[in-house]
Amino acid sequence: MKLTHREIPVELLRKLPAGIKIVNRIGQEFLVIEDVRCPAGDSLTVDSVRIHGEPSIRLRAKIRDDEGSIFVDAFWGSHAKLFSFLPSDLEGKPVVEASCPVCGASLMEKRACVLDDCGCSDSILLRLPNKRDEIHVCGCLGCPGHEIKLAELPAHVSNAISEINFFGARFDDMFGDV
Ligand SMILES: [Zn+2]
Ligand SMILES: [Zn+2]
Repeated sequence: MKLTHREIPVELLRKLPAGIKIVNRIGQEFLVIEDVRCPAGDSLTVDSVRIHGEPSIRLRAKIRDDEGSIFVDAFWGSHAKLFSFLPSDLEGKPVVEASCPVCGASLMEKRACVLDDCGCSDSILLRLPNKRDEIHVCGCLGCPGHEIKLAELPAHVSNAISEINFFGARFDDMFGDV
């Protein structure tokens, strides 16, 4: 998959929701998730682990019998992740059972993956600070399915953002090592 830079919808730039920022890299604008919360309102963003130069999103994660932290790249559409543990059983498509590293609340929801050929019905729900804007990430490890729902903007804006996807290696080629 070739990296294509997608235009960020102008409606979003005019009315950027809290928790999302725009950064300029290599002469292009990228969306970066600055602040997402658990259901109790704990911020999941951590400054101590940076990916592509930005604070990452920390999730407590259980993959079958293994448990630890996953740090997710905050660049929208990138799928870079750092693991604090080595999942031992990756047969098939294991579901990442994510929870809040602060209070332990589950971040899981029943929601079908946006990608037709995935078939996963377990999804990770991340809330932007206003609580009405939501990010849904496919819970199957390695699936790039993700969706954003912005309550105050027209549906086509959310849809256009949801379609932005970059794929690991190519994205890293642009910025150098993680
Ligand atoms: Zn929490
Ligand atoms: Zn999926």
